Amino acid sequence: MGIRSKLSIQQVLSEIRSMVYGSGDERATALADLKKTEGGDPFKVLIGTILSQRTRDENTTRATESLFSRFSSPEELANANPATVRRLIRPSGFYNMKTRSIIRVSKQLLAEFGGKVPDNMEDLLKLHAVGRKTANCVLVYAYNTPAIPVDTHVHRISNRLGLASTKTPEETEKVLTKTVPRRYWLDLNDLFVRFGQTKCKPIGPRCGSCTLSRSCPYFRNVVSPKTKGS
Ligand code: SF4
Repeated sequence: MGIRSKLSIQQVLSEIRSMVYGSGDERATALADLKKTEGGDPFKVLIGTILSQRTRDENTTRATESLFSRFSSPEELANANPATVRRLIRPSGFYNMKTRSIIRVSKQLLAEFGGKVPDNMEDLLKLHAVGRKTANCVLVYAYNTPAIPVDTHVHRISNRLGLASTKTPEETEKVLTKTVPRRYWLDLNDLFVRFGQTKCKPIGPRCGSCTLSRSCPYFRNVVSPKTKGS
């Protein structure tokens, strides 16, 4: 297979979009699902994003469905019995820590923000358990504000494809916000997460059926030499 010259960011996104939407896999990511089912309720997106940390999407969805069937506002969650919350969010893992976080952030929203989730980065970063990725998720999935949430999928795929050469998700966000035209920002996280779950997996990426392999440095430098050597 020959090497193709470097593709533009538009071409890369277009190829990923074709692979994701052409795969026939209709599964939505946990946050896109939450946006759809809960109408992008900022509080639910915020809590869902905290619950999504360090777990798989299906576990996040199970936890949010259980939790929001009982507690669906900052008032309700701030006054909830922690043992009940722990039981409801158990599928998401790290449930002791996450219970403390979501109750604390609910109390903080009531005390400092009139029970409303902020719609800007500066105030979002003042919230307990909220870093740049979570804040960007709230902007994109709740407020439709262009931003690039960089999770492990976005970070890994960007580096594999040579869109970034970075050590941390924060650095990747800085690079992508400079190089990716703003009109693509709203979709990028969902697109990359789906691509990362189905094809460009953390371990054992399915490069053989990836239309980007001829221009992918990771395929060229890491996957292909291994295959030849085996
Ligand atoms: S060729 Fe492999 S490593 Fe590169 S983007 Fe495609 S699946 Fe990922």
